[in-house]
Amino acid sequence: MSEHGQRLARAVAALTNTDALIVTNLGNVRYLTGYTGSNGIVVLSAERAVLVTDFRYQDDVEPLRAVLDVEILDRDIAGRTIEQLAEFAPGCSMIGFEGSMPYALVERLRALLPSDSQFVATDGLIETLRLVKSEAEIAATRHAANILEVVYTNIGQGQLVGRTEAAVAWEIERTIREAGFPALSFEPIVASGGHGALPHAEPRDVAIERGTLVVVDIGAQGESGYCSDCTRTFAAGGAPDPAAAEDYALVLSAQLAGLGAVRPGAVGGMVDATAREVIMAAGAGDLFGHGLGHGTGLEVHEGPTLRKESEDVLAPGNLVTVEPGLYRPGKWGIRIEDQVVVTAAGHEILTGFTKDLVETAG
Ligand code: ZN
Ligand code: ZN
Repeated sequence: MSEHGQRLARAVAALTNTDALIVTNLGNVRYLTGYTGSNGIVVLSAERAVLVTDFRYQDDVEPLRAVLDVEILDRDIAGRTIEQLAEFAPGCSMIGFEGSMPYALVERLRALLPSDSQFVATDGLIETLRLVKSEAEIAATRHAANILEVVYTNIGQGQLVGRTEAAVAWEIERTIREAGFPALSFEPIVASGGHGALPHAEPRDVAIERGTLVVVDIGAQGESGYCSDCTRTFAAGGAPDPAAAEDYALVLSAQLAGLGAVRPGAVGGMVDATAREVIMAAGAGDLFGHGLGHGTGLEVHEGPTLRKESEDVLAPGNLVTVEPGLYRPGKWGIRIEDQVVVTAAGHEILTGFTKDLVETAG
């Protein structure tokens, strides 16, 4: 059976509280079917698996008919799917829907369903299936991670001082796309000096100054959709402020401590705490305001999560990031992020570029 055929079978087997599930989350639709468009819904039951999309995708979805039924409806596919639910999920009276389903549709469906049928919110049913990756998914992620090493090598050997953050970001995007990647996992973050203290800073048309730290957070998305994600922080044009170098060493030791805790059976919140305690012990706990890491896959942020309140338990085949940061408002930001696969023995790092603070020549 094809990988998508197996996924659909596993999803049907997971329908324990419902007879049918309406899948509206596009990441889940892609996971189950391989559909990469922007307007697709899957209706799944033991009787039938149907992908509903519109005429724009008519040719693209032809190969998907090998694993499930495909129906081409007009543009309001959600509304039309609901109207035809009896046909798409014959005999089903317990219908599950996902959290991403718009409330207006939920109301519409309620009004259309026979009074004896039930309509239930499901909690991460397909997302749970996505947590453990197959060898093929890991290989695709590894491929997307490898290009980032090329990018970081170029940055380390190139010029940062005097170039704008936006120009560096564009060069990163070009390198990734010219290597054959159809997309990026997200817009590159290139943030120097005080701007780096904003964890999700957008690249500016502002020249990078000598002696500043530059946070570079990037990811590539391969043909099959799997995302890489890695952050390195560079010192532009030579040694930074000694206090910044000290902060860098602190973040690195926190990152190594966090990595050391990544293994099967580890709880997300505990892995976060292992790294966070290193930064807290140095009195800088309030400068690390985000979670330690997140799962990756077809989406760059998925489960399992590594943050304070996470009860997710790691298992072999999970893909997660470990990315502590330290953000001194108005001064500098530092983040060091690796993407790792959880293995039976612990973990394997996919993003291998050096974590020593690289000082560029210019
Ligand atoms: Zn990142
Ligand atoms: Zn990340």
